[in-house]
Amino acid sequence: MSLAIVLSRAQVGVEAPAVTVETHLANGLPALTLVGLPEGAVRESKDRVRSAILNCRLDFPARRITLNLAPADLPKDGGRFDLAIALGLLAASGQLPTLALEGIECLGELALSGAIRPVQGVLPAALAAREAGHTLIVPAVNAEEACLASGLKVIAVSHLLELVSHLNGQTTIAPYQSNGLLLQTQPYPDLSEVQGQTAAKRALLVAAAGAHNLLFSGPPGTGKTLLASRLPGLLPPLDEREALEVAAILSVASHAPLTSWPQRPFRQPHHSASGPALVGGGSRPQPGEITLAHHGVLFLDELPEFDRRVLEVLREPLESGHIVISRARDRVRFPARFQLVAAMNPCPCGYHGEPTGRCRCSTDQIQRYRNKLSGPLLDRIDLHLTVAREATSLGAMPQTGETSASAAQIVCEARERQQQRQGCANAFLDLPALRQHCVLTPEDEAWLETACERLSLSLRAAHRLLKVARTLADLERVEAISRSHIAEALQYRPSSG
Ligand SMILES: [Zn+2]
Repeated sequence: MSLAIVLSRAQVGVEAPAVTVETHLANGLPALTLVGLPEGAVRESKDRVRSAILNCRLDFPARRITLNLAPADLPKDGGRFDLAIALGLLAASGQLPTLALEGIECLGELALSGAIRPVQGVLPAALAAREAGHTLIVPAVNAEEACLASGLKVIAVSHLLELVSHLNGQTTIAPYQSNGLLLQTQPYPDLSEVQGQTAAKRALLVAAAGAHNLLFSGPPGTGKTLLASRLPGLLPPLDEREALEVAAILSVASHAPLTSWPQRPFRQPHHSASGPALVGGGSRPQPGEITLAHHGVLFLDELPEFDRRVLEVLREPLESGHIVISRARDRVRFPARFQLVAAMNPCPCGYHGEPTGRCRCSTDQIQRYRNKLSGPLLDRIDLHLTVAREATSLGAMPQTGETSASAAQIVCEARERQQQRQGCANAFLDLPALRQHCVLTPEDEAWLETACERLSLSLRAAHRLLKVARTLADLERVEAISRSHIAEALQYRPSSG
């Protein structure tokens, strides 16, 4: 047999499309041609594979070799196809039974010695291989990650010779059994460690209960960052689908193997972060911070300091829950269903409104600072809260506030009500569902309309306000939205000016 076919998987965004590695040996002068749009790192593959095969004292076929990576229109890079190419060469030259390659897929980069090195993006490939009903051969370092696709048969290997011996039937490698080490989570910082700030904690609870976006405004040192970092600990645990999505993103984004899982992410990019770092990009599109925050929290401290153009790009994922990155050759779609928590100072120096009179900013400067944030972006933030400095009196008892665990319990109940009623969190209600589930009495509707006019709220802001009122009713375990819920929701809208 001078033709062999080995299955592998490419990596496009968080997807792992199938790639067929076809190896054909023909008579003629020894040469190796690689076709099927391989990029630089894959072209180097042939040298690595040759050395690995020779160093394992196997035969590198001295014939005319054609390697085709199909489909040709799929971009392919990295060393992940090394192992498939090596197995193809060995099978085509009769050193491996082709039957042994049926129903298996493989991933792995080869060292010149024949050792098998880890690759990125193993989990998406594992999920796809499970879907296809195939067995997956992976580098030993990646085995634990591949096992997250429960039910998948994983063969973990660390050297080419070990695998060849297994496929030849000389030895048997038992399917890898997970040691469960990945199923570990780091505790989130606790709400009870934040002293005072009752109103801010309430806003945090409401944000968690309805998946609402939140903006804290206040002078430096009032604990805005402290508060924001408590949000992931209030959110319900990830369900299996969400957890796998989060792990798949980490798997393609990180060069290091996955170490702890499952956990809601908390991402805090600096305001000097570039557009591609924040939303994703690069010649070979990589996920940005908003994707790394998928199913978790994206915290943007000092919001007005971010590049305005970058902030405007956030509007799309805030609505749709994903971002599409277009490049000359391909379009990659990354998930980005994050909850935004932002913080800002009241003025450029940060001390506007403080009784000390430290602020020397002019009205003009303050206006310019606030104008850095566009109306449409602010409209997408449901809860606006001013955080004031807490009066600290000497000898005051440290407050033993609510713990994250008890708040999370309340959030969990509110989320369950929403799931049962409408199948999603309140923040994600679309317009028809909003009309169906956020019904007001005619009097309350008229009252809200007047209030919206007075505050000159946009229609989008008014809809978001209704969703917050819905969450407040859910927190109170009542179905009907009442005047008090609308009134509290109104308090979370910024007063214009
Ligand atoms: Zn100032």
